[in-house]
Amino acid sequence: MNAEIIAVGSEMLTAGRLDTNSLFITDHLNSFGIEVTAKHVIGDDRARLVMAIQRALGDADLVILSGGLGPTEDDLTRDAVAQAVGCSMSADAGILDAIEQRFRTMNRQMPEINKRQAMVLDGAEILSNDRGTAPGQWRAAGNKFVVMLPGPPSELKSMFRRECLPRLAKIAPPTAIHTEVLRVTGISESYLDQTIAPIYVGRENLETTVLAHDGDLQVRFRAQCATAEAASKLSREMADLAAAALGDHVYSRDESTLETVIGRHLLAAKATLAVAESVTGGGLAARITNVPGSSAYFAGGYVTYSKRMKTEALSVPAALLAEYGAVSPETAKAMAEGARTAAHTDWAISLTGNAGPSTDGDEAKVGTVYIGVAGPDGTEVTHRVWPVGDRDRVRSFAAQAALDLLNRRLRARA
Ligand code: AMP
Ligand code: MG
Repeated sequence: MNAEIIAVGSEMLTAGRLDTNSLFITDHLNSFGIEVTAKHVIGDDRARLVMAIQRALGDADLVILSGGLGPTEDDLTRDAVAQAVGCSMSADAGILDAIEQRFRTMNRQMPEINKRQAMVLDGAEILSNDRGTAPGQWRAAGNKFVVMLPGPPSELKSMFRRECLPRLAKIAPPTAIHTEVLRVTGISESYLDQTIAPIYVGRENLETTVLAHDGDLQVRFRAQCATAEAASKLSREMADLAAAALGDHVYSRDESTLETVIGRHLLAAKATLAVAESVTGGGLAARITNVPGSSAYFAGGYVTYSKRMKTEALSVPAALLAEYGAVSPETAKAMAEGARTAAHTDWAISLTGNAGPSTDGDEAKVGTVYIGVAGPDGTEVTHRVWPVGDRDRVRSFAAQAALDLLNRRLRARA
C-alpha cells in the first residue's frame, strides 16, 4: 500500500515555513508498512489543489492532506476534496454545536464564518479534534481513501493518534516486522559498510541501517514481510551473512552493550577486573559500572592523573616514568600490572594518553593512547592514535578500544 501527502498552505511556499506535519505522518504510515511515494506542498489555490488531489488519487491508495481546514476564505481543503472526488457537502449539526459550545466556554460568540468548519463531505467519517475547532475527515474514494487533517501540528498529531491509527490498522495489509541487530567494534563505519553492502544492497523488504557512536557500531536489519516467519527468516539470514563477513568484530547479536558482554565473560570465568585510568579520567570505570550487578566482578578503579599518583597507587617506578614518560607503552604496562596487583584481581586494564587539544610540549603524542590489558596469561599493550581536535571523542574512543581489547582476550579464553 502506498500513500501521498499534500501539505496545504501558501506560507509553506515561502522561505519562512516548513512542512513538518508530513514527517510525523510518514513515520506512522511506515510503521504500518505503508510507503510514502510522494509529498507535495500546494498553496491556498483551489484549482491547483483540486489538480493535486486528483493526481495523487491516480497514483496512491491513500491521500492525506494537512492544513486548510480553518474558517477563512483561504481554507479550501474541504471544497477542493469535494470537487476532486465529485461529492457534495452538508453542514453537520453536531459539529456546529461543538464549535458553538467551544466559543461559549471562551465567553465569545461564534463568528458566522466558523460555520464552514461544520461542512462535511457526503460519505465522510468525522475525525474529532480535541485541540481546536476544525474536525478532520476520512472518506473512501472508490477503493482508495482521502484524509483531511488540520494544519496546526498539535491538533494534527492528537487527531492522527486517536482517529487515524485505528483506521489505518484496518486498511493496511497485514505485515510483520522483524529486526536483527549486530553490535560491532574495532572497525570504522565505512569499512563496515563496504564489507556488508554486497550482502544487503538490492534486497527487497529489507531496510538496513548502520549507526555509529564513538567506535561503537550497530547494524540493524529490519525485514518487513507478509508473515512473521518470513520476516525473521530474511533478517536472520542477512545478519548471519554479515556476521560471517565481519568476523570477530561482532561482539553481540542480542543488542547487549560491550560492557555487558564483558560482564558475562567475567561472571562465567568467576574472574575479577580492575582499571587504572589516566586519559579517560574514570570514563572506563563508568562504562563498566553501567551494568547492573557489575559489583560481582568489578573491584574498582584508580584514576591516576599525575605521575606521583601512578607511582604511589600503582607502584609504577618513578625511574620508568622519568625515562619513558607518562604516555608510553612501558607506563601503560606498569599501570595495568600495578592495578592488577594492588586490587588483587584476575584482570586489569590501563589507559594512558593525551586527548589534546594542547600538545603539552610533545607534538607526537596528541591523540595517542596506550592501552594495557593484564591478565592471567600476561600483559599486552596496544597503541592507538585518533584524530586530534575533539577531546571527548578521543576519550570515548579510548574507553571503547580498551573494552574491545579486554573482550577479545576474555573471548579467547572462554
Ligand atoms: P491551517 O490549518 O492551514 O490554517 O494551518 C494553521 C497553521 O498550522 C499554519 O499557520 C501553520 O503554522 C501550521 N501548519 C499548517 N500546515 C503545516 C505543516 N504541513 N507542517 C507544519 N505546520 C503546519
Ligand atoms: Mg492554511
